[in-house]
Amino acid sequence: MNFDSIIIGAGISGLSIAYYLKKAGQNILLLEASERVGGVIQSLDADGFLLERGPNSLRGTHELLDLVDDLQLQDELVAAYPKAPAFVYFQKSLHPVPMSPPALIKTKLLSTKAKFRLLREPFIAARKGTSEESLDSFVRRRLGDEILERFVAPFVSGVYAGDPKQLSIQASFARLAEFEMQAGSILKGAIKAARAAKSKHEPPKRSLRPYRLCSFQKGLETLPQAMAKSLGESLVTGACNIELSRISDFQFQVNYEHQNQRETVTTRTLIVATPASAASQMLDRFAPEITKHLAEIHSTKLCAVPLAYRIDQLPHPLDGFGFLAPRDQGLRTLGSIWNSSLFPHRAPEGWVVMNNFIGGETDREAINLSDDELITIVHRDLQTVLGIKGEPKRLPITRWQRAIPQYNLGHAARIAAIEKELSQHEGLWLTGNYLHGVAIGDCLKRGKDLTEEIVEWMSKH
Ligand SMILES: Cc1cc2nc3c(=O)[nH]c(=O)nc-3n(C[C@H](O)[C@H](O)[C@H](O)COP(=O)(O)OP(=O)(O)OC[C@H]3O[C@@H](n4cnc5c(N)ncnc54)[C@H](O)[C@@H]3O)c2cc1C
Repeated sequence: MNFDSIIIGAGISGLSIAYYLKKAGQNILLLEASERVGGVIQSLDADGFLLERGPNSLRGTHELLDLVDDLQLQDELVAAYPKAPAFVYFQKSLHPVPMSPPALIKTKLLSTKAKFRLLREPFIAARKGTSEESLDSFVRRRLGDEILERFVAPFVSGVYAGDPKQLSIQASFARLAEFEMQAGSILKGAIKAARAAKSKHEPPKRSLRPYRLCSFQKGLETLPQAMAKSLGESLVTGACNIELSRISDFQFQVNYEHQNQRETVTTRTLIVATPASAASQMLDRFAPEITKHLAEIHSTKLCAVPLAYRIDQLPHPLDGFGFLAPRDQGLRTLGSIWNSSLFPHRAPEGWVVMNNFIGGETDREAINLSDDELITIVHRDLQTVLGIKGEPKRLPITRWQRAIPQYNLGHAARIAAIEKELSQHEGLWLTGNYLHGVAIGDCLKRGKDLTEEIVEWMSKH
């Protein structure tokens, strides 16, 4: 059988491109190795608690809202309370992350000296040279040590479970680096970009307020499942031992095993949407230069340790998103998301549930801890921060051996090299969270953008 496009991997990246290509009228096939779709997006009902093993929420971008409408999921969508603050644990108490200039002036998270240091940002000379710089060095240089230690480092623990000394500013927060390069300062660059956007007179894009987070009544997995349903027979799960080869300039062959039978199909375009490590193995036969770069992308190990408590065990109202813990504040837990405060139906009446993360790049050994050890450490940290009384209710722990790709020093150059090599392989595309953003919203957007690129390419070939 011949297809317009075959996509490999049905995480949110693969589902996104498959969904948009099908919507554009293409004859597609989406092959997934496991028996389920969604990749790391995994919602689980455990004893009446609705848990997220991977991501806990996603941003209400216009791509998401359009998708929700298309899939008729409007009644399922739940938005987090927009004012739910995220806290930082600092000097034995929780401080809300300041979200406005007056809040920044008032916050006790920063010393007066650090606040004045922040005001100097527009006057600090831009860095010369174009080599990649670490997030740690960039933020210390432009904004000062306290901003790095009390905001940025805990924040990157929350997004990448990463190490600011290793993360590349050009790869992980490219816009900030661009602002400095183009305007000499982050603030000047941001103002310039806002003015340029305004002068384009584009109608504002529909979105929930930018910081608003969402989920679905039955958890995040609702989204990949609905996308999969809309694909019907274009999706094949349990398709393993996939072998890829090019049989002519504009034809690929895909050979795979399904229900103990080998199947062979052909396609004009091939989109590999697996994690980098799997893509690296699959492309080895006909794109070895790309394979080499993909194999160098490192993903961090991370444990999700959900714990539940009865409300009467908690002196704290849990009125927020949760907290992040800077590494020098005496806690091993990276952060805690207060799921039952954010979204409805996460815990039975009278209970709260929190999802807690431990491990990542600054604590690589945590993945080897036993369940008992993980629970003891996280519970002790929660007791310290929230004053919880008594013991927690144990819930299933998830250990991610490859949780989140690290956009470390050299990543921007590596991705540029991959994209250059890809341009030599007509008809072949890559998508996935290791390319242009790890958030679900980034993966959805990449699927949409790539669809436009592929449809245009096909109209010319
Ligand atoms: C613990 C954790 C917390 C997170 N928190 C958030 C959050 O709160 N908000 C947010 O926006 N993002 C969050 N993220 C990031 C986000 O969830 C991921 O970046 C995104 O879901 C990745 O999607 P993907 O499709 O690129 O990859 P994956 O989800 O890894 O999907 C890849 C798919 O490819 C399949 N596959 C692999 N090998 C093969 C093969 N050889 N053949 C066929 N198929 C194959 C896999 O089975 C899988 O289905 C979190 C991630 C983790 C792990």
